Amino acid sequence: MSLAYFWIVLLGCLSLSHAAPTIAPTVSPEDEGLAEGYLSRFYADVGVTNSSVRRIVNSSFSQDLQTMQAFFGLQVTGVLNNETVEVMKAPRCGVSDISRYGHFAGKPKWEKRLITYRITQYTQDLAQSQVDATIAQAFQLYSDIIPLDFKQVNSGTADIMILFEGGHHGDFYPFDGANGVLAHANSPGRGQGGDTHFDDDERWTLTQRGVNLLLVAAHEFGHALGLDHSRDRRALMYPNYHYVNTNGYRLPDDDKHGVQALYGSRTSVPTTAPKPQPPPGPDPGPEPEEPTEDPNPDPLPNPRHEQCSRDLVFDAATSIRGDMFFFKNGYYWRKSATAGGIRFTKVNTKWSQINSVDAAFEVPSKDVVYLFEGRQYWGIRAYAKTVISGFPKSLTNIGLPSSVSKVDAAVYVPTTRKILIFVNNQYWSYDEGRNQMDFGYPRFITQDFPGIGSKVDAAFENYGYLYFSNGPRQSEYDLQCKSVIRVLLNYGWLNCY
Ligand SMILES: [Zn+2]
Ligand SMILES: [Zn+2]
Repeated sequence: MSLAYFWIVLLGCLSLSHAAPTIAPTVSPEDEGLAEGYLSRFYADVGVTNSSVRRIVNSSFSQDLQTMQAFFGLQVTGVLNNETVEVMKAPRCGVSDISRYGHFAGKPKWEKRLITYRITQYTQDLAQSQVDATIAQAFQLYSDIIPLDFKQVNSGTADIMILFEGGHHGDFYPFDGANGVLAHANSPGRGQGGDTHFDDDERWTLTQRGVNLLLVAAHEFGHALGLDHSRDRRALMYPNYHYVNTNGYRLPDDDKHGVQALYGSRTSVPTTAPKPQPPPGPDPGPEPEEPTEDPNPDPLPNPRHEQCSRDLVFDAATSIRGDMFFFKNGYYWRKSATAGGIRFTKVNTKWSQINSVDAAFEVPSKDVVYLFEGRQYWGIRAYAKTVISGFPKSLTNIGLPSSVSKVDAAVYVPTTRKILIFVNNQYWSYDEGRNQMDFGYPRFITQDFPGIGSKVDAAFENYGYLYFSNGPRQSEYDLQCKSVIRVLLNYGWLNCY
């Protein structure tokens, strides 16, 4: 079964001249062939918006190439150049497809905070109160994490009009009976924008049987808020329906990043539905707002304004008890796992001995974080964020040669209990269980981590994947597949839109 929706084709984005050359003269015929194969495999149906565009204009190699360049953060030229070919040559896992969150062309979104919705026709499969509650729950998945509120109204024209009906139902996209298309929704906008229709020839349920209304409604409301399909199989916005347990269901990461990229994240608890706070951990309560002014002039510029720059390069990154810390020029952005908000702090106001962090990693099982600066590193208690006595220690203490004056990046891999330490184009592997450096290192990065580049500026682990930053670009890496799953930009972690 697949979900589909009807789309709004924005012809404004198709200003491409078909006479323009699409291959740079420096690209070899083999690479040209590779690019054609790549685009037809990974970009032929990247989103319904795109394929609808293709049908209308009989879209070309160049159009697909633009889509691909935009996704990978390359300069969007529609011309195949060597930089683009290089990205296409990055190996990828055979089983997992390219993954991304998508937005519609032109990135339509709601420009107000309170969105009304109205259900004009209900299904007979469920009680009206069940439908109301489930629809509200689906909207709440979004209002929990983005600063929008949703309100049901029972008369007049709401922003999002919802109905259940089979076959023809007043638009040009009649439903197809049981199975097949389950529902569709418009992207945000005036008039029919955001309107969502459910095929009433399906058997709507709140369980695993039939078609689960919460999951389909949540998917369709993703469209109604501006999300396009995702190729990430774990994503709610993956085009095909498959049931997952809806108990305590929350938006998967891909969808969360996608919708927060459009609307930002909700920083305070929603006023309409106050929620219990997460259970208090040993973390000693909220920290006071930290001063970011420095009496002494900084050797490095304050990177605050770079937060949402596509060119943002990290010095280091690590998790600390679920929160993410991204270091740059002696400052860090801390992204809260629970609230999703971001705080910007100067490193030495938090740890007075450390001016700038080159590399960082967390060993969750020990509740310790290690921060590196120059030839030294510090152990930090993760819960209290205080330096453990006996630190700093010298890099030679963990078995690095004295020729190493600085570490580029470090990451702890929980499944193997190895600490990977990156220096220039090589890396070392430290066995956390045996407390010693593994034999046979350093090894070349390109040899063991194909596709991530020859140098790593920052590395961290998140939900079983490793993330390696090389310049502004970041590779999401599957250690088991030994390959890059997707390529992101660093700033994507910092709630930018
Ligand atoms: Zn869809
Ligand atoms: Zn419809």
